Amino acid sequence: MRINFNSSRVITCPFCSEKKFLTDYLSWNDIGAQYWSDNKCDGPMMPSSSNVQKCSKCGKYYLKSRQPKIYEERFPSSSEKPLTYQQLKEAFAQFSAEGFGKEEEETSVRFMLHHAYNDYYYREGKRPASEGERQFFHDNALWLIEHVLKEDLMKAEFYREIGEFETAQKILDTVEISGKFREEIAARIQSRINDRDCAVFLLPRR
Ligand SMILES: [Zn+2]
Repeated sequence: MRINFNSSRVITCPFCSEKKFLTDYLSWNDIGAQYWSDNKCDGPMMPSSSNVQKCSKCGKYYLKSRQPKIYEERFPSSSEKPLTYQQLKEAFAQFSAEGFGKEEEETSVRFMLHHAYNDYYYREGKRPASEGERQFFHDNALWLIEHVLKEDLMKAEFYREIGEFETAQKILDTVEISGKFREEIAARIQSRINDRDCAVFLLPRR
């Protein structure tokens, strides 16, 4: 773990050149971390600041991953609130209009959206989602299933989260499961498919 309490990562808004100073760890540990069924990890020591940054001056969004790694002697960093789900949606719309450069960029933003939707509608307390919101979440998850997810168990879980229970069931029926950990995850997915429940859940400890 490298934390240098004297320096911050400097990033610069590509639209208005406003600088931002981030606390950015090079590595992290996951002691005490909790893993969720949508692949989100909540930990006491999170890896680093968000890849999607909103400029505090001009309000535009930009990706940290496109910035060179420059550090300056300065601490504390700029104060930073995590982006809300709605802000991430705005960011996604802006990036889509500009055109994503690489598939990794689109993947990272779409995963953030998926997690932020589940944060807002499940993890922070159950709220009803509008038809439009559910559709957006659905289409975003389908993109991740088609382009990124490799594991069938994970695909089944994502289909369950978007309410496609029959597809989730079909995959679950054919997937080969070995080991107690994966058996337990499959059992949790199965019981929620039975209940027609889309809510994310905490993974068992390994
Ligand atoms: Zn700016």
